[in-house]
Amino acid sequence: STSVMWFRRDLRLRDNPALLAALDDGPATALFVVDPAVWDGAGAARRAWLAANVLSLAERIPLAIHHGDPREVVPRLADGRRVHVSAETTPYGRRRDDAVGGRVELVPTGSPYAVGPGLVRNGSGGPYQVFSAYARAWRERGWPEPAAAPRSPDLVPADSDPKAVRLLEQAVADAPLDLPGAGEDAAWRRWRAFRDDGLRHYKTERNRPDHDGTSRLSPYLHLGVLHPRSLLAEMDTRSTYANEIAWREFYADVLWHHPASAWADLKPALRGMRYDDPVDAIEAWKSGTTGYPIVDAGMRQMMQVGWMHNRLRMITASFLTKDLHVWWGVGARHFLDLLIDGDVASNNHGWQWVAGTGTDASPYFRVFNPVTQGLKFDPQGDYVRRWVPELAHLPGKAAHEPWKSDVGYEHGYPPRIVDHAAERAEALERYQAARV
Ligand code: FAD
Repeated sequence: STSVMWFRRDLRLRDNPALLAALDDGPATALFVVDPAVWDGAGAARRAWLAANVLSLAERIPLAIHHGDPREVVPRLADGRRVHVSAETTPYGRRRDDAVGGRVELVPTGSPYAVGPGLVRNGSGGPYQVFSAYARAWRERGWPEPAAAPRSPDLVPADSDPKAVRLLEQAVADAPLDLPGAGEDAAWRRWRAFRDDGLRHYKTERNRPDHDGTSRLSPYLHLGVLHPRSLLAEMDTRSTYANEIAWREFYADVLWHHPASAWADLKPALRGMRYDDPVDAIEAWKSGTTGYPIVDAGMRQMMQVGWMHNRLRMITASFLTKDLHVWWGVGARHFLDLLIDGDVASNNHGWQWVAGTGTDASPYFRVFNPVTQGLKFDPQGDYVRRWVPELAHLPGKAAHEPWKSDVGYEHGYPPRIVDHAAERAEALERYQAARV
């Protein structure tokens, strides 16, 4: 063959401009490399999800699967041929691609986003700092129509490394939880079901973790099993749902302009903030035993299904940062270990948003009250009872306040590890002291 299609975060055939570019270039070989820098650091659920989607792709096309540092593996296998990719825009991905690009001819086409990070600019050519302004410009700039899948992808088979294939198969076998259906067809089925049924209620339902009101497409979008452009082509781009897609694009843009913000405060204003390292409390937060029902329900949902509702991501992140006074990076790291949609741009900036160190909006002094949040967004307590069996005996909203019931602690639910009102005051004091 004359070219190589190196799949990374674009594990799909439909609307894959890089794949089309590779095929245009002559007969191509498709390649996936299990990169230890990504693989070894990922939790078991994330590995299983990645593996399942790679193997699903390999059922549809001849895909050569290898293992090792791409800087070494890709040039060796390319053997002088051009290598087509969709552009990677995370700090690690950019470093890796720069290094690979120094050794082979690397041809990027498209990216995992409707509008590539770095392309939406303000009047003076700089990046947008604020979401609403970004989203407006993003819509105005627009994106191309989705491309079709190649009719019969003319891919030339090439050998896999059997050890790499076994590694993926083993990861799927070792999945610690039930994964969603892997692969492009499953992703499209989910999108169509949501488009035809959920989309019109999304605006009101999206904040209700007790209902199944969101699309749950994030794990597919993360690996590029679906491209956001395919979704945007089938909806009103002014809709609330399109706005959420825009958040994903915004955070990727922020990360592109500020690679350091993956693990450092984006805004310097709170760099003087005093943080704690309460080992036992962090453990209670991780294991869903803080004694605050809505917080524990969210953390347990993540442990059991590798996904957490957005409202719960905000509530649990607020609890760690504001009630336990822990630096947001600790929580972001933990989420990335467990979430099958774990994405450094959306996750780490989502954490910074809650912590008040990130882009615009949420000021530090906005502290979520875990009880009123629970009562408001899970008004019947269904979500709590579903994920916290020790509270399943408490009817209705009583599940949110076991301390008010004589039988609240009868099934082993733990008492609250902190007093929210006191910690809220403490958080505000620290905030005042840190402000520069
Ligand atoms: P839907 O409500 O159906 O939204 C559709 C799509 O829009 C999502 O799949 C996602 O791609 C995008 N989206 C929605 N909300 C956001 C948002 N606030 N920020 C960025 N993109 C958004 N999202 C991730 O994909 N990966 C993460 O690791 C991640 N970590 C988060 C951590 C914190 C602390 C917070 C507050 C949010 C995080 N989010 C993350 C954003 C959001 O919670 C998830 O995208 C959403 O819950 C995924 O479920 P869904 O597909 O049903 O979303």
